[in-house]
Amino acid sequence: MIPINKPWLDAEEKTEIMHVLEDNVLTSAARDGGKRVQDFEIELCNFLKVKHVVAVNSGTSALFAALIAADIKKGDEILVPSFTFVASANSILAVGAKPIFVDINLDDYTVDIFDLKSKITNKSKAIIPVHLYGHPSAIDEINELADAYSLTVIEDACQSVGSSYKGKQTGTIGLMGCFSMYASKVLTCGEGGAIATNFDNVAENLKMIRNHGMFDGYDTRVFGLNLRLPELSAAIAKVQTKKLRRMLDSRRRNAKLMSEMLLDSGKKLKIKFPQEDQDKQFNWYLYTVAFEDSTTRDKVKQKMLKHGIGATVYYDPPIHETPYYREVTTSTYQNDKKTLPKTEWSARHVLSLPVHPLVEEHDIKYMADIFKEID
Ligand SMILES: *Cc1c(COP(=O)(O)O)cnc(C)c1O
Repeated sequence: MIPINKPWLDAEEKTEIMHVLEDNVLTSAARDGGKRVQDFEIELCNFLKVKHVVAVNSGTSALFAALIAADIKKGDEILVPSFTFVASANSILAVGAKPIFVDINLDDYTVDIFDLKSKITNKSKAIIPVHLYGHPSAIDEINELADAYSLTVIEDACQSVGSSYKGKQTGTIGLMGCFSMYASKVLTCGEGGAIATNFDNVAENLKMIRNHGMFDGYDTRVFGLNLRLPELSAAIAKVQTKKLRRMLDSRRRNAKLMSEMLLDSGKKLKIKFPQEDQDKQFNWYLYTVAFEDSTTRDKVKQKMLKHGIGATVYYDPPIHETPYYREVTTSTYQNDKKTLPKTEWSARHVLSLPVHPLVEEHDIKYMADIFKEID
């Protein structure tokens, strides 16, 4: 079985976990967190070349804390793609705000700037660009719009740790960037998350928000919850961050091999390959192709699953087509007839393949052979 993603753990993670157990300190409610939380934050800061990283217990918590830190409230409109994991929108509902779904580009599945601009209103407060599959969104254009309309940019970098935009790490370009360490992500500790920011006051605020708004003891100053990352998880995250460069290199090698091996059947089956460019470097979280014909996509997917390969469609249905969001958007917002044509097309035509570090050359050849057998 080759799952779509799998944690790459070895002896070092085990050693670190044993150290935490020997120390007998499993968590810390101090403002700066426990020793491993602090170690992990420093490691990730150095990797991202950002001033602050605040660790939390999930990517969802990272988005939620970021929205609170950005003072997003009831009545505010937040622009977000629908073609993403539902957490991007759920965190908006969690602070009482309203997600406004934006369409995507067909070349990289990140937000379409023209559609984004057309959906800005006087209630718009923030944009959450999602670097889907590890593909960086067009941040310069997004920041320009944000400046022009006084909007906060919160990057959803949950899938893009290690991807870069014009030489800068994704998640470090907006006011805040949110990362996930869920088991399927590039850098993982099972469940975990982090927020990156270059602003001192934002980091201070986030540290309170993850700890019931407390600053120095039981002196709650702002709204917060318990969003703390446990020490055992932080220990794993720290080791994973140290080997992040190696994990990214391995993904890149696999993606390159995949492109080479799929070339011929790609032409035959009319497949669009993921395209990196100089300005937008991928972390290769997923290797996502699009089929011109959706029945061919479904055939390939079924065949892959039959042969134990976790080929997966991210995301069908897109958020605006899920039962809950259909209900919320029609009953609460009455704005629902609007469609997102490129999002809907993508949901029916994309397929993601595994290129994680535990995928080997013969696995890629095996996947390529399955493509060859399709007609
Ligand atoms: C994984 C993910 C999240 C949520 O992260 P969790 O750690 O699972 O809470 C949010 N947004 C995107 C795009 C994700 O892929």
